[in-house]
Amino acid sequence: MQAIFFDLDGTLLDLDINEFFPRYLKKLSQNLADLMEPEKFVDHLLFSTKAMLENTNPEKTNKEVFMETFFAPEGLEVEEFYPRFEKFYQNDFPLLNTGYGPVPGAHEALEVAMKKGFDIVLATNPLFPREAVLERMRWAKIDDFPFALISTYEHMHFCKPNPQYFGEILNRLDLSPEKTLMVGNDPLEDLIAGKLGIKTFLAEDYIVERKEQLPADYTGKLQDVVSIIENY
Ligand SMILES: [Mg+2]
Repeated sequence: MQAIFFDLDGTLLDLDINEFFPRYLKKLSQNLADLMEPEKFVDHLLFSTKAMLENTNPEKTNKEVFMETFFAPEGLEVEEFYPRFEKFYQNDFPLLNTGYGPVPGAHEALEVAMKKGFDIVLATNPLFPREAVLERMRWAKIDDFPFALISTYEHMHFCKPNPQYFGEILNRLDLSPEKTLMVGNDPLEDLIAGKLGIKTFLAEDYIVERKEQLPADYTGKLQDVVSIIENY
């Protein structure tokens, strides 16, 4: 084994995205209410999020897609909006933490992967700015680990469940798929890594309900992945 990829939300962090995302949208839209009517803002943000999810242009980062679809069509001033986004992630995003913490096994899994000399990758869907990912890593108490790559919207060109998302990480770190394990709680977005030959572990603690369930090499509580990594 060369590397272990870890999803964040619902895998290492005990955050249910369906509970979190509406609160996040509400707080962000209210924060920027003086610039745009909150309901309109939410529609608009979801439109740009969809554009990032559907981006297949390897020349464009997700942030570039966001900037193009969020600002240009509405004739919005980037200079007016963007600093406010940045301020939101610095000052207000941390307040969305209602007591989240690490899923049992998170620390041990990273620790044992490091001990074995494997690269560790934070393979969270790159829809967020780096600041918002680092903050959630602090909630999970994993911000001290030396990740080889943290996937954020500034530098990634694809999103899950596009297999090219995983391909991009493999290329950047020069990894073989069959020597890589993806650990995640989403039977579609995380297990799609298997299409490239990456080994997969479905973490069931906060499993995402999906109609479509892709095959996993391993399934269990996050805690169970510790001995799997140990024995690689
Ligand atoms: Mg997840």
